[in-house]
Amino acid sequence: MRTLSILGSTGSIGRQTLEVAEALGLPVAALTVNRSTALAEEQARKFHPKLLVAADQSAAADLKVRLADTPVRVAGGREGLLEAASIPEADTVVTAVVGIVGLEPTLAAIRAGKRIALANKETLVCAGELVMGEAKRWGAEIVPVDSEHSAIFQCLQGAHRGEVRRLIITASGGPFYGKDRKALSLVTREQALKHPNWSMGAKITIDSATLMNKGLEFIEAMRLYELPPEKITIAVHRESIVHSLVEYCDGAVLAQLGSADMRLPIQYALTWPERTPGPAKPLDLFSCPPLTFGKPDLETFGCLRLALDCAKKGGTSTAILNGANEAAVGLFLQDQISFLQIEDLVADALDRVSAVLGPDLEAILAADAQARQAVLQSSMR
Ligand code: MG
Repeated sequence: MRTLSILGSTGSIGRQTLEVAEALGLPVAALTVNRSTALAEEQARKFHPKLLVAADQSAAADLKVRLADTPVRVAGGREGLLEAASIPEADTVVTAVVGIVGLEPTLAAIRAGKRIALANKETLVCAGELVMGEAKRWGAEIVPVDSEHSAIFQCLQGAHRGEVRRLIITASGGPFYGKDRKALSLVTREQALKHPNWSMGAKITIDSATLMNKGLEFIEAMRLYELPPEKITIAVHRESIVHSLVEYCDGAVLAQLGSADMRLPIQYALTWPERTPGPAKPLDLFSCPPLTFGKPDLETFGCLRLALDCAKKGGTSTAILNGANEAAVGLFLQDQISFLQIEDLVADALDRVSAVLGPDLEAILAADAQARQAVLQSSMR
């Protein structure tokens, strides 16, 4: 039985991880949150972690008061996050924080030899080679939680290297599928926040609307499965039933199907290589719509095109892409820029910040900071 540390327990993936932990009876050693104190208190009282961390120091001070009558130890800030990531009582760390802030805690968990249930795609996008290299060095297992990567991971069980011809990542197409540039120039934040098939946090929902999410997932798959970009294909699959596929050298194509319920890939990352009954909704084949597959529209959805360019370039270009996107999506969520400006600002940052190959952690964090700076400067012009 695995003992969990959940980084980002009040977000969408974190809450669903706790549902799975409850259903499977898995103990929880540590939880981390940003500043959602009320929900953090509720989770701590229910799951009795040894350690509860709030990244925000004033939220940590508040939680210390709220939980004074319990044995839960409350810590704050970056140090607290790193402690939760490497806490000796946990053997599995679920990295469910959003953005590059997940990078250093993920590296700490790897160096402590934990299994990483990876739900923080930005980590592999920005520092994939570094993270995978460290995982090999420290013998840490990285099991993906992202539904597409979990589907591929499931289809790869028992496979040998060299037998895989290509990975096929499915994409829902997002809420603006079929729209042209003119229509995209008019979309509002509220429209972009409505995803047709999945219920997720705000940042990833916007990334799904721009298709940047699929670009990040393409890079994530390259790093996780150590494949060149020409061995990965994106297929738009509006129904979100086939979660991704693997084509083998003999022509066989294996797919993983399921309802759009993240609790299944979360659970698999915790129970792999075994399967157990769990809370995810089973798929009813007889009520499924016809399954369709098509090519993505790279002309209309420029964020995906930019991401695929960076996937080919490598080095810090993917960290620049990600940092610029995080900053631009932040501005869009605050109603400061239009939907299509996300793409413009990311393109602009990629022009202005020069990329280096084979970066170390310092170069990756510097590229991220420069990209964010470039976006803020350009957005004020
Ligand atoms: Mg996904």
